[in-house]
Amino acid sequence: MSNVTVCVRFRPLSSKEKKDLGDNICIQSMDSETVIIKDEKEEGFAFSFDKVFYEESKQADVYEFLVLPIVRDTVNSINGTIITYGQTGAGKTYSMEGPNILESDEKKKGILPRVVDGLFACIKTSADSTKYTVKLSMVEIYMEKVRDLFDLSKDNIQIKESKTQGIVLSGATEISLSDTAEALQSLSTEMNMASSRSHCVYMFTLNQESISEKRVKSGKLILVDLAGSEKVEKTGAEGRVLEEAKTINKSLSALGNVINALTCGSPAKANHIPYRDSKLTRMLQDALGGNSRTALLCCCSPSPSNASESLSTLRFGASEEKC
Ligand code: ADP
Ligand code: MG
Repeated sequence: MSNVTVCVRFRPLSSKEKKDLGDNICIQSMDSETVIIKDEKEEGFAFSFDKVFYEESKQADVYEFLVLPIVRDTVNSINGTIITYGQTGAGKTYSMEGPNILESDEKKKGILPRVVDGLFACIKTSADSTKYTVKLSMVEIYMEKVRDLFDLSKDNIQIKESKTQGIVLSGATEISLSDTAEALQSLSTEMNMASSRSHCVYMFTLNQESISEKRVKSGKLILVDLAGSEKVEKTGAEGRVLEEAKTINKSLSALGNVINALTCGSPAKANHIPYRDSKLTRMLQDALGGNSRTALLCCCSPSPSNASESLSTLRFGASEEKC
């Protein structure tokens, strides 16, 4: 079985989309793995994934299928990465965090708060002879610079490779799992302003100390809420907006190349996985590929008004078929 799982999620139509085009949608469900999308010319394209989550899907469905197996592996010291991809407004942050990061409605909680609960639950049921510690760092990557979201004055965090810990965010604030609720609370205003032009990265590091055997194992789980993948109008954009768009494009295609190289899985290619092409792939290096597990959730609008962006999102996720 591949270590990379790719799913698609269509959010419900927004009120604006409904107002503009009524209940029209540009997708048709074949089954739970295949969806057909029609472009502006009414031409249909079929795409298959590990699973397609349609408009009525629940946060819990996404968590259980895509995330829970990876959380369990983290506890077994296997690294993992969970990524949300798609145009701005497609539902990346809703899936990753929820309607807001402090959502109290259990049903609406996104991946992040469920991971926090999931890690707690795994730790609680573990043997007494094992001591766990979980730390969380949170950074954003904007214009290829890494900024600590827990301490905005640290705006140029370096990504380093350590012999014992693998890839680390040098000097980034780490908070313990039991303090996450409080830490996220203090962040929530920041989070609401989080730019759709930056990648937001949550890095959980789980250390496991076996008291009897005197050894420490560690596992890393990284959640990534990517910058919007939409194409910026070539004619309209200039200056900073254009620079931002180019930088985002470059890092998203670096990510696509890495995921492609991993899923194509030829040994020759495995030696040439281009992790160093962007800060994002460099940061994910030891949690993407090798022995680790990756989940990609491609988020889309079902509206005909967004068909061309949805089509390009589906192509990004389904690129393994081109191997
Ligand atoms: P993105 O992070 O991709 O820019 P958001 O997650 O902010 O997009 O979603 C855009 C809007 O759509 C938000 O108002 C969000 O609450 C809503 N939304 C997204 N996905 C869903 C969903 N599955 N169910 C209900 N509302 C959703
Ligand atoms: Mg967002």
